[in-house]
Amino acid sequence: MRIVISMGSRRRSGTGVEAATDGKGEARTALLRLGAWLEERGLKHSRQRDVIVETFYGMGGHVPVDGLVARVRALDARVSVATVYRTMKLLAECGIAVPRRFDDGQTRYEPSTGRSHHDHLICTGCGRIVEFENERIEELQIRVARSHGFEVESHKLELYGRCDRCRRAEPGARDPRP
Ligand SMILES: [Zn+2]
Ligand SMILES: [Zn+2]
Repeated sequence: MRIVISMGSRRRSGTGVEAATDGKGEARTALLRLGAWLEERGLKHSRQRDVIVETFYGMGGHVPVDGLVARVRALDARVSVATVYRTMKLLAECGIAVPRRFDDGQTRYEPSTGRSHHDHLICTGCGRIVEFENERIEELQIRVARSHGFEVESHKLELYGRCDRCRRAEPGARDPRP
């Protein structure tokens, strides 16, 4: 299966507008936060970590760890696979990246600095990942949980299906547009 991630761009849910960014400003913000976080814990700063963070932000979207490893090692072969995995765990701990595990079992990370909650649509054909936000769904989930006596702390909503491109490519497909 081919995994398509939006490279260096971020989809703005709702508006359908894609704000192109190389992720450099975000990488800087993330590095500052990570630096402060490491310092508080008496941990050392490393140049390799910077390369990993910059590469991660440059890739945008939902980055599979093995894809990140390949990209980082192409830039600096001295960075070990274990260091990339460890660094991404650290980023998640410090709250600047969120790990995602969709049905294909791969661990992906997405940047979380300056981002609000969103859910995902995942194409079972091409692996495309689309983000969405829907206030009514959010409210409804809270209400459903409450009716069962639950107070929601967090949730993940993943919708699996075939995207418009894959559906158009299917033999005998009709134009999916209304
Ligand atoms: Zn697709
Ligand atoms: Zn996302």
